[in-house]
Amino acid sequence: MSIVNAKEIMVEAAKGKYAIGAFNITNLAQFEAVIDAAVEKRAPVIVQTSVKPSKFYGRDVMVAVFRALAEAAPVPVCLHLDHCTDIEYCKLCADAGYTNIMIDASKQPYDENIRQTKEVVEYCHSVGDISVEGELGTVSGVEDQVKVAEDEAALANPTQAVEFVEKTGLDIFAPAIGTAHGVYKTKNPKVDFERLDQINKLMNGKTIKTPLVVHGGTGLPDDYVKRLLECGGAKFNVSTELKHTLIDTAFNYVTAKREEYDPGKIDAAVRDAIRGVVGRWIDMLGSAGKA
Ligand SMILES: [Zn+2]
Repeated sequence: MSIVNAKEIMVEAAKGKYAIGAFNITNLAQFEAVIDAAVEKRAPVIVQTSVKPSKFYGRDVMVAVFRALAEAAPVPVCLHLDHCTDIEYCKLCADAGYTNIMIDASKQPYDENIRQTKEVVEYCHSVGDISVEGELGTVSGVEDQVKVAEDEAALANPTQAVEFVEKTGLDIFAPAIGTAHGVYKTKNPKVDFERLDQINKLMNGKTIKTPLVVHGGTGLPDDYVKRLLECGGAKFNVSTELKHTLIDTAFNYVTAKREEYDPGKIDAAVRDAIRGVVGRWIDMLGSAGKA
């Protein structure tokens, strides 16, 4: 039914205090599973590809699959390019039909991050109804999670975050608050809830201007997710959990049925398992029934 950008569904989510699940996929079975789960739950949803799978299949193929599946689905669906550090590739994906682009210039000095982010925002807004996500601070891998979380300078400074969003014209914003990519090594990862809350109040206190993104969803304890929702998280990125589910499911299937040689059955097992993971996230984020 509806192809949407990320901002429009996130503004509604932020108003309603729920969040949109944003799921990284690497193949067609996962792509279908994410949309199936969203349809089943009647939830708006974001499908994400990082740069690698986007280049592996080709951006035009990704967009063709997205359009075919989204047009047939009775829920809003967005296709998002995740963590792209290359301005030119951001533009190519915008041209191809991605509806949300993340320019990740967070490793650059602050002024350069502004310059690159602004360039992508201006381009995306000029070619279509495409929203743009940017990042400030360091969203680490889990190896460095605690170190980064304890380093004030590596996290997004709230006053600077407001300035960053104003100067770039960003649509949605990912502040580093200590969450990390991968599987957390501790049951109690160090996450700066207060910081997200403060940024949200400064940015979205009166009206929702720039909804906030939480990276590193995989493995966050349920009560953390709940607190992050209360602090303004309106999009949660979940990647590692889908990758592990794909590989573990395929491995277990092949191990159990070593002589079968029916690839369609492996794909079906993967699709069912991913659908379960995505459905659980949609319930946890409160977006079920919102489409
Ligand atoms: Zn991320």
